[in-house]
Amino acid sequence: MVTEKGTISINTENIFPIIKKFLYSDHEIFLRELVSNAVDATQKIKKLSSIGQFDGELGDLKIKVSFDKEAKTITISDKGLGMTADEIKKYINQIAFSGAKEFVEKYKEESDKTQIIGQFGLGFYSAFMVAKEVEIITKSYQDAPAARWFSDGTTEFEISAAEKTERGTDIILHIAEDSEEFLEESKLEQVLVKYGKFLPVEIEFNEKVINNPSPIWVKTPSDLKDEDYIAFYKELYPYAEDPLFWIHLNVDYPFNLTGVLYFPKVKQDFQLNREKIQLYSRQVFITHDVKDIVPEFLQLLHGVIDSPDIPLNVSRSYLQADGNVKRINSHITKKVADKLSDLFKDDRKAFEEKWESIGLFVKYGIISDDKFFDRAKDFILLKNTEGACFTIEEYKTKLEANQKDKDGKLVGLYANDISKQDAFISGAKKREFDVLVFDDVLDAHFINAMESKVENLTFKRVDADTFDKLIDKGLKQEVVLGEDEKKKVEETFKEFVGNNIVQIEALLVDEIPVSIVVPEFMR
Ligand code: ADP
Ligand code: MG
Repeated sequence: MVTEKGTISINTENIFPIIKKFLYSDHEIFLRELVSNAVDATQKIKKLSSIGQFDGELGDLKIKVSFDKEAKTITISDKGLGMTADEIKKYINQIAFSGAKEFVEKYKEESDKTQIIGQFGLGFYSAFMVAKEVEIITKSYQDAPAARWFSDGTTEFEISAAEKTERGTDIILHIAEDSEEFLEESKLEQVLVKYGKFLPVEIEFNEKVINNPSPIWVKTPSDLKDEDYIAFYKELYPYAEDPLFWIHLNVDYPFNLTGVLYFPKVKQDFQLNREKIQLYSRQVFITHDVKDIVPEFLQLLHGVIDSPDIPLNVSRSYLQADGNVKRINSHITKKVADKLSDLFKDDRKAFEEKWESIGLFVKYGIISDDKFFDRAKDFILLKNTEGACFTIEEYKTKLEANQKDKDGKLVGLYANDISKQDAFISGAKKREFDVLVFDDVLDAHFINAMESKVENLTFKRVDADTFDKLIDKGLKQEVVLGEDEKKKVEETFKEFVGNNIVQIEALLVDEIPVSIVVPEFMR
């Protein structure tokens, strides 16, 4: 083969500086791109073999990533289908380049440049983010001589004959000075593990396989046991407590979506940690940021979703409008609601025990997603001061008998601080009123959402007013004090409470004589 020189056809001479400069913050993705290409090439040779278009030995198909600190190179070697010299011209000089060109064009028109950084599958040319020169040495599975491609990051390239006898491709990166951090073993391994942890072909680095090629989400749910799900959870989050339960997503049509979402155990003081779901595309790690893909309230879940149907090279606003993304979003919401509904029906007691954690998701869902209420209304639980749980319907029935205001509206009483409101709670109990506990961070919003969604129901805090004003039981006591006495009492108390309103009301005989109340609207 004679050495051939050429120029990569492009009108912007300076595409590489642009790639390098603007992808700088995320230049580690070069490894994701090159290793995925190696995976693709490996999958392709397997496919050719399985359909009888390649009858040679497949051999050991491991992909090897190595580095040489002295020579300042990183090499990605696969035993995939390889390329002929003509294929290099076609796939590397033309096709791969069009991806890079598209990136630059997109870059120019995008006003918020951070939006595309790292989202764009720049493909092969992302190598130039870290390398000053790139070599491809490749031998096709077809009967053709091995070839070498070389480019120094300008638009010039060179193709010549190569020595390689084994099928497959080596990509050799001559690392640029400003990217030498990638020649550090630990850095290289960390990036490799980050993007390649679940790639479908074994990846070897430093003589050990760094990935799990068949993670749980690509398996059939019926083949899996609880232990498998828990073990995978531990693999993802080594320090986390066991999850409460999980949902295995498995859709082929009309979009492709797999994954496992876990409900973590959450505490009252939970933090809104939204970086726990990992997004993959065909087992290639893409991002921790699933905003716009997973409904906001479900971003508190943990786990993995994998879909090749999520466009990655687009801006946020485009992503939100994308049909598949919308469908994926509502599919996940539905699956979660179905799962909760099943858990509730199958074992209500267990469901009630987990309500502290589940409730946070459900409440958050109701607050942030208008449609979620309809899916959840039958398993939303209200817990009273005695620890008994009621569904909304059950609770309405309970209130029907004893807790209505003068307009006939059902009045739920609640406490948000059981110890401080103890006197009011016992007052309520004397009247045989039930008191709910709403004491977590979302409850104020949750109460509002419930009042707007559930007909004929309102909630009042136990200390919002005297009971006779909150709930009309026709039990009103007559005030037995004369006008003079009332005045005296009023003045005495005004001295203590300043300018606040002092009211004199008749109470039950054994009730505490004085209480300070704060009306609902004042909070
Ligand atoms: P994409 O992977 O999206 O097609 P890339 O820019 O990553 O785009 O790669 C361009 C093309 O170069 C690939 O489609 C493939 O044909 C070829 N290619 C890249 N790397 C390899 C490899 N390791 N083995 C065989 N072909 C490869
Ligand atoms: Mg690629």
